[in-house]
This record gives sequence, structure tokens and C-alpha cells, in this order.
Amino acid sequence: QARPNKGISLCCHEQLPPGAEDDQLMLETELRQALVNQEFSLLYQPQQSLENGQIEGVEALVRWQHPRRGLLPPAAFITAMEDMGLIDELGEWVLAESCRQVALWQSRGLRIRTAVNLASSQFESSDLPVLVQRLCHETRCPPDMIELEITESMAMVNPQKTIEQLSELKRLGVRIAIDDFGVGHSSLEYLLHFPHDVLKVDRTFIKNITTSKGSRAIVRSLTAYCSAMGITCLAEGVEEQRQLDYLDALAVDVIQGFLLSRPITADEVETMVFQLATDNAQKQDVSAERT
Ligand code: C2E
Ligand code: MG
Ligand code: MG
Ligand code: MG
Repeated sequence: QARPNKGISLCCHEQLPPGAEDDQLMLETELRQALVNQEFSLLYQPQQSLENGQIEGVEALVRWQHPRRGLLPPAAFITAMEDMGLIDELGEWVLAESCRQVALWQSRGLRIRTAVNLASSQFESSDLPVLVQRLCHETRCPPDMIELEITESMAMVNPQKTIEQLSELKRLGVRIAIDDFGVGHSSLEYLLHFPHDVLKVDRTFIKNITTSKGSRAIVRSLTAYCSAMGITCLAEGVEEQRQLDYLDALAVDVIQGFLLSRPITADEVETMVFQLATDNAQKQDVSAERT
């Protein structure tokens, strides 16, 4: 994908609108400062099991509390951080913070598995397994409570290396999710060789599920694959009850999306988990009284 505004290289001077170079330079300065000042934070988006209604886990999603522009989503800074070589540092912080949070929840009696997005340079690094092991150890986070997400496209850059890296990560006990699946042009044959625990079906299929027979057929075949392989099939971007009804009928295991919850703070996750557990317990009491 072409990025005309990449970096501050002078060769593309003519293509940049007036002031764009200054903007880029300012963003770079601000991002370096943001790492020093710890202006990043994590929100967590809940994932719900359709089988038992409980919160299965959450996905950690990074935000930047910009001193003037407010809370910024990853789209406003991730690519710039990749270009500036800052993404590994941010990624390490995200991973460490997620491990700390899992351990904190655990100390309060909550088992909330947390999924962490990896940037491609992080995933390609031979140091990743050692880093994951060290952070889990230092924070006393059980490795099986961490799920590492790589996109299908990242997995396909070098399939052989992907297999080796995923196998090594799996040996540590962490879980692996293939993110944004179905839009990355990988062959299904490869998927079989990538060790993974969760398949996250891309939002586009969910978006079209109520109107497109084709999308439904694809989701149906993915749930069949997951069920045969003992893998969790997760639908991303579920926004409407009608979509959920289809996904339930197609035997999707877990859902994530605005219908259930937007990304929320760690405290809000705690409240939601307790609330759902209470609701479910009450439902069980009611049905027990009826029988
Ligand atoms: P993703 O991993 O596919 O994460 C899901 C994105 O979809 C999140 O956007 C989430 O807020 C959004 N989303 C969730 N439910 C719905 C829904 O029902 N409808 C719609 N329209 N959107 C929904 P967000 O937080 O802006 O993150 C965007 C992307 O940024 C992520 O996509 C991920 O690729 C990347 N990202 C987020 N956090 C990190 C991080 O810590 N490190 C790296 N390298 N990338 C990250
Ligand atoms: Mg993700
Ligand atoms: Mg995704
Ligand atoms: Mg199943």
C-alpha cells in the first residue's frame, strides 16, 4: 500500500500539502515524547461466549491520550510509529501492561484472558518468545491467560517462519489468534499449518451476514473448520441483534462488537463481568425454581 506522506523524506516534497512536513515532524516529536511521558493507555473490549453468556476474555486496544487532541485511536498513530521504528517499544509496553492487568484481575478472583495485537515487526522478531516469557514471569501472569493476535496477512509474509514462531510461542503456553481472517488472501491450506487457538472472522463477513448468502456460507464453513479442529471461532464487529441471531444459528463460539460493548476501561470490565455472572446466576435460580 502506498503511503505518500511516509516519513519526512524530501523527495516527495511536491506531493505534500503545505505544512504536511511540519505536521509529520511534529507527530514524530510528540510520539517520542508520548512514550517518555507514558501517554498511552489500554481499553479492553469484551468477548462473550454464546454457549454460556459469560465473558470469555477481552482484547486490549491501545489509545493515545494526546495533550491537546484528546484520546486518539490506533489509526491516528500506529502506522507512524511503525515508520519511525517506535512500534516495538509501544508493543512491549502494551504486552507488559496487559500482563499486569491480567495478574491484577486474577488477584481479585477474576480470570479474564486478554488478547494483545502484535505489529508485524514484533511478530517477526526472534526475541519475541523470550520477551513474552520474561514479561509473564515478571508480572506473574499465567501465559495461558495471554492471547497473541497476528493478522492473516502477517502470517502469510513468510509462512515457514510463521509456523516456527507460532510453534515456539505455543510452547510457552500463550494462545494464538488469527485476526481479520478472510480478507488477507491466504490459502486455507496454510491455515492448517499455523498453530492457532482462535480464528477471528473479519468484520466484513459479519457486516454482510444478514444480506449475503455467500457471507453466511463462508462463516458456516469457518465454524465447521473450527469445530472439527477444536478451535474457537470468534466473530468480530457484531453491531446488531440480527447479526447475532445468524451467528448463533451458524454456531459461532464467541462474539466481540459494539452490540455487546465498546472498548472500555479495566474497571468497567470488572463491573461488567460481575454483572453478567450475577445475571446468569439469577437466571439459573429462576429456571431451577420452575423445575
Ligand atoms: P483489530 O485488532 O481488528 O481490533 C478491532 C477494532 O475494531 C478496534 O478498533 C475496535 O474498536 C473495532 N471494533 C470493535 N467492535 C466493533 C464494531 O462492532 N463495529 C466497528 N465498526 N468496529 C468495531 P481500534 O481500537 O480503533 O483498533 C484498530 C486496529 O488497531 C486494531 O484492529 C489493531 O489492528 C490495531 N491495534 C489496536 N491496538 C493495538 C496495539 O496495541 N498494537 C498494535 N500493533 N496494533 C493495535
Ligand atoms: Mg485484533
Ligand atoms: Mg480484527
Ligand atoms: Mg463450536
